[in-house]
Amino acid sequence: MRAHLLNDTTAELYRSSVTEGVERVANKLATTKRPFTGVTPDELAPTIAAVDLDQPLGDSSAALDELERVYLRDAVYFHHPRYLGHLNCPVVIPAVLGEAVLSAVNSSLDTWDQSAGGTLIERKLIDWTTGRIGLGPAADGVFTSGGTQSNLQAMLLAREEAKTDDLSKLRIFSSECSHFSVQKSATLLGVGQDAVVSVPVDRDRRMQTVALAAELEKCRRAGLVPMAVVATAGTTDFGSIDPLPEIAALCDEYGAWMHVDAAYGCGLLASPTRRGLLEGVQHADSVTVDYHKSFFQPVSSSALLVRDGATLRHATYHADYLNPAPTVEVGAPPVPEGLRGRIPNQVDKSLQTTRRFDALKLWMTLRVMGADGVGQLFDEVCDLAAEGWRLLAGDPRYDVVVEPQLSTLVFRYVPEQVTSPTEIDRANLYARKALFASGEAVVAGTKVDGRQYLKFTLLNPETTVADIAAVLDLIAGHAEQYLGENLVHAS
Ligand SMILES: *Cc1c(COP(=O)(O)O)cnc(C)c1O
Repeated sequence: MRAHLLNDTTAELYRSSVTEGVERVANKLATTKRPFTGVTPDELAPTIAAVDLDQPLGDSSAALDELERVYLRDAVYFHHPRYLGHLNCPVVIPAVLGEAVLSAVNSSLDTWDQSAGGTLIERKLIDWTTGRIGLGPAADGVFTSGGTQSNLQAMLLAREEAKTDDLSKLRIFSSECSHFSVQKSATLLGVGQDAVVSVPVDRDRRMQTVALAAELEKCRRAGLVPMAVVATAGTTDFGSIDPLPEIAALCDEYGAWMHVDAAYGCGLLASPTRRGLLEGVQHADSVTVDYHKSFFQPVSSSALLVRDGATLRHATYHADYLNPAPTVEVGAPPVPEGLRGRIPNQVDKSLQTTRRFDALKLWMTLRVMGADGVGQLFDEVCDLAAEGWRLLAGDPRYDVVVEPQLSTLVFRYVPEQVTSPTEIDRANLYARKALFASGEAVVAGTKVDGRQYLKFTLLNPETTVADIAAVLDLIAGHAEQYLGENLVHAS
């Protein structure tokens, strides 16, 4: 069994196994005609159930053959131009190369003695990101597993900085379009999800700052503590960006921590033309970025950035076996100059302990393509969304919600003949499901003012306006079929 350990004597097996895996995936990507096969959980479950995990196959070729049936054949492929579902991006090759390297070397970024240069590479990318945001000289941050964890850590810092022992007094303000991880964080942090005040949005789905100001004033008058305002720079559904400069001013006035959730909108940091949309982000106390959304990175790759690096101490715990606290022995001789200073242990800043070297993927991406290269890709999908919006706005079959700032389109099929809103809801729901079952395209769904809508999340520069038009025809076809059948049943 030692033949399977990756070391100096097994280089040949490593090379041949990984190469074979790469070949299969490359073939798969080249021959996949649809984003999905439409397989149902019931259809696929027996295939997985039939695998006996106590009967190993012995070699990678056999395991890869099996993998074709249990995974590769029916996976949902984000690289396909008609995958328009959630916030998943096609990935760039330099990042995939980084992934292969980081898992083989397997550094763990918790302590310097488990990562060495990896720690410095991560720190340099954090500095690069805080520089692009404009957080100032004391800024710092850490890579995380995703926006959910980044938001959780931001709320932890905000809670501690609020400096009150009475958690029941704390309030968090975020727009009604903000991500559900804000509520989840509030619960996990003992603040409770009822402490999250939902601020209404305007027609463009951006937080209404007049309403925010009123809520902050109400909070103050009630003797409560405004712990944080979470501004979203790129809402998950609409890609709308809250008015950051106005929110920054209000945070200043009321002494609230300003967190910007730029999980989606962070791609603007690299955009050669759209950086201005993030104006105001430089005033944030903390910022969430998801490189695995708009930097075309494989899952997972995210970071939390903070204006004042010292606030990260709220996540610092010491263990003698890992990152002992700096101790000064009584009567000890002075420490020589070169040995002063803390060992750079990233675990001091992280909620995680053992942690992937995800930063390497972004490193390879920037070293090969540069920031402009990544930003151009994001610009392309934003341009595509603008064209898609024009298409939808001119199509009588559809009602489209807002002109996109980023790359999502939220719309709904509306039949010519008068039908009840509930029937329209059902027709749209049906169309989404039927499309998914056909595997021709994958689209997402969401609710707007209680009604069922559909959503395109455009993150693939290979998707064309013709793809969008074709998928709209498919959706209309399914919706019409549903309504046609229901009319027959009703009569
Ligand atoms: C996706 C998203 C998150 C959560 O990020 P994960 O990486 O999925 O954990 C948080 N906020 C917003 C606005 C998002 O779009």
